[in-house]
Amino acid sequence: MKTLEQIASELAGYDPQALSADMVNDFLTKLVEPVTDTEELGIFDTLGRVLASDVISPVSVPPHDNSAMDGYAFDGAQLSINTPLNLKVIGTALAGKAWSGTALPGECVKIMTGAIMPMGLNTVAPQELTTMAGDLVTIAANMLQPGDNRRHLGEDLMQGQPALQKGELLTPAALGLVASLGIKSVPVLRRLKVAYFSTGDEILSLGEPPREGAVYDSNRYTVFGLLTRLGCQVIDMGVVRDQPEALEAAFVQAALQADAIITSGGVSVGEADFTKAMMKKLGDVAFWRIAMRPGRPMAVGHISRDKLASSPYKTSAISYLNSSIATNQPTSCTNANESNTASAAASVAADGATSGNAVLFGLPGNPVAVMVTFLAFVRPALLRMMGATTSAPPLLKAKSIEPIRKKPGRTEYQRGIVSTAADGSLQVQTTGNQGSGVLSSMVRANGLIVLHHGQGNVAPGGEVDVIMFDGVI
Ligand code: AMP
Ligand code: MG
Repeated sequence: MKTLEQIASELAGYDPQALSADMVNDFLTKLVEPVTDTEELGIFDTLGRVLASDVISPVSVPPHDNSAMDGYAFDGAQLSINTPLNLKVIGTALAGKAWSGTALPGECVKIMTGAIMPMGLNTVAPQELTTMAGDLVTIAANMLQPGDNRRHLGEDLMQGQPALQKGELLTPAALGLVASLGIKSVPVLRRLKVAYFSTGDEILSLGEPPREGAVYDSNRYTVFGLLTRLGCQVIDMGVVRDQPEALEAAFVQAALQADAIITSGGVSVGEADFTKAMMKKLGDVAFWRIAMRPGRPMAVGHISRDKLASSPYKTSAISYLNSSIATNQPTSCTNANESNTASAAASVAADGATSGNAVLFGLPGNPVAVMVTFLAFVRPALLRMMGATTSAPPLLKAKSIEPIRKKPGRTEYQRGIVSTAADGSLQVQTTGNQGSGVLSSMVRANGLIVLHHGQGNVAPGGEVDVIMFDGVI
């Protein structure tokens, strides 16, 4: 893994105090590396996982030319313009039960969808284009071309060709495709382990009584949801106070278990100082001001596990965690098995570290800023760490129903409600107040309006780029 300094030196115009959104992604692409461990899993267990090698088709799908319709199979060379075709039915081909005779000119075979095309026959007249009289069928004129309604051997997949490629995310369609090849299990990359915690003296965990000036923690829940949708193994580490020892212990614990650590809060100018000092001890961190809205401050870095494995921090992390359990300090939620502090502490003690680095994404504290920076930067970086070759969601064009104010020189992500206009094109309106704490607007939005770095005000009816949330949020 490269040092942050090395990466910065490779990026022309890198300025941590004024970083463009694009440069953040360029930086993160250089910072993170894909996992390499693989496991072989049965298809039902692979949904959302990343394929570790190409799936080569051992068969052709379909394995034979077959009928796409219920109807009559015949030799299409007999079709002629403006003249109905009369044929004698001499047999029946069923799906799973082929007809093995030979049809001569003037003859046809009744055939069902999926049945193997009888030898020499290349066209199927669907039932609804025909009339029957005894064993004679009449096919209406000018409705068919030779070859119609026949599926070709291998038209879905040819034997020996890659059906799916390494790095693909296994979707429901991909699961079916693997099964269609008769393959029971596939190699996938191991799941990415991501630890996350919220920071702030004013942050309340659920169950705590309200207190003046304090707010309930929402970031851990949105981050949990975003990570879970991405297929990551989540390690919930609760809320950590703005105290150097507490933060240090949390970072050590997280780094010993996880490939990546996501924090929220504590990275703005005033708060960043002690985090900076502490992170310098544990690893390497860069604090950025990004030319974007929402979500200006962000920290990235890595914590070296090799350094931690034999260090006193490890012990202090465990004793801190144990004491926080003893004093019932709120630390975690009720999510999956690894999410409570006791089991997390036990695994720090027992499992020890794998070597390498844990990547840190220090997100801003404001709830909308957390989600936007996650989508814009963290999600693509995690996908890369997962070994996925997925491309970014497409930018769609939509007409803005209203004027939008925008200063050139920063990227803005505004919450948008995209809908279909009367003429069938896409239109979008903002959710109104774009304050970075207005989380309800994130719930009402179905996408983000992306106002690019150089872009200025948008007039009503002006075209803007939008990214749909789809299944991501
Ligand atoms: P910070 O970046 O720590 O200065 O936080 C910025 C704003 O986000 C403050 O108003 C915090 O109270 C709020 N905030 C920080 N963390 C959380 C959280 N986990 N849940 C809800 N709000 C938060
Ligand atoms: Mg804070």
